[in-house]
Amino acid sequence: MLRRNRDQGLDDPGPGLRYPNMIHGKAAAIIVAAGRGLRAGGPVPKQYAVLAGLPVLRRSTAAFRACEEIIVVVHPDDRSLAQTALAGLERLRIVDGGATRQASVRGGLEALAGAPPEFVLIHDAARPFVSTGTIAAVMAALETSDGAIPAATVSDTLKSGSAGRITGTVPRDGLWRAQTPQGFHFAKILAAHRIAASEDLTDDAAVAERAGLSVALVPSPALNFKLTTPEDFHMAEALLAAQLGDIRTGSGFDVHQFGPGDHIWLCGVKIPHTGGLVGHSDADAGLHALTDAILGAIGAGDIGVHFPPSDARWRGAASDQFLAHAASLVRAKGGVIAHVDVTLICEAPKIGPHREAMRARMAEILALAIDRISVKATTTEKLGFTGRREGLAAQAIATVRLPL
Ligand code: MG
Repeated sequence: MLRRNRDQGLDDPGPGLRYPNMIHGKAAAIIVAAGRGLRAGGPVPKQYAVLAGLPVLRRSTAAFRACEEIIVVVHPDDRSLAQTALAGLERLRIVDGGATRQASVRGGLEALAGAPPEFVLIHDAARPFVSTGTIAAVMAALETSDGAIPAATVSDTLKSGSAGRITGTVPRDGLWRAQTPQGFHFAKILAAHRIAASEDLTDDAAVAERAGLSVALVPSPALNFKLTTPEDFHMAEALLAAQLGDIRTGSGFDVHQFGPGDHIWLCGVKIPHTGGLVGHSDADAGLHALTDAILGAIGAGDIGVHFPPSDARWRGAASDQFLAHAASLVRAKGGVIAHVDVTLICEAPKIGPHREAMRARMAEILALAIDRISVKATTTEKLGFTGRREGLAAQAIATVRLPL
């Protein structure tokens, strides 16, 4: 039967996109992510670039979560990038790639050879828009072929050219644009790769063709394109932005009283202070207000509903887990957190010296870029309970984008 990730919701494609058959239970996936091509202006290889809140690699890998096992082949220098991008996905191994794409795929196949699956799906990390329908169609074609690849039709007229001038018009009848995942009977493609080890072929279907295997063509939408150029990234951002058009805002407010102690926790940062904050958990009013803001944006109640004070598990608990849970509920809806803004209200401690540490810690908990996180501070001019230094208040606002 289909297995589910513990955090399946994190990358859930939404209703109507479930795997339509069960055959994936016998298939492993190899995600080829060993390239080092940098997105124009980007600091990391393109498969680690973030698209609408999630790394490209996570999007492309999560599409295969129904498979028995997933091998992600990466450049040895990018292991920590891959581990961060893939955190929490299950039945997944990261293996080092080789000097060429073909060598990397072979490395992935050899990693599976000890306990071979019946089928393998080999997918480019840079194709994050692969649909469950395309994966299912490739798998279905393997019932009657050694291999199968998704391919898009060619709609533009094709010209050959030289020195900027047309030299001819190329008939496009019978031409297809090869995509991935390319699926194969595992033992057959492993043998073909071993035979072709000294060659340099551009895709796995070519390796299969060279070995005389039958490879089926499965029509696939052009949407399953490979992110290559800056233009591709702009198009991908636009596609995802259009999908995430349901923009929500939530607010949160929290107060904790000062009491005995020598430190407080605020926005996930431990701050030395002349007193502590009293509360059932670690009394981090900043994270509590923000957790409520995120829950508010998705209409999911408040922090007390999810983590009742009556439950002894949360006594003295670190509040980062409350915030992480709220973020996971957003992702379970297929959404992203666009921005959060926390205002801390107190006479002391001074927030300024801790502001950047707070932003960095919340960025880590929420898995967001730091420029999507704001921390502000104010006093109440010595008025009221915060003015009398009896307690500290925090308010927060969160903007969340959900699929339309
Ligand atoms: Mg609280």
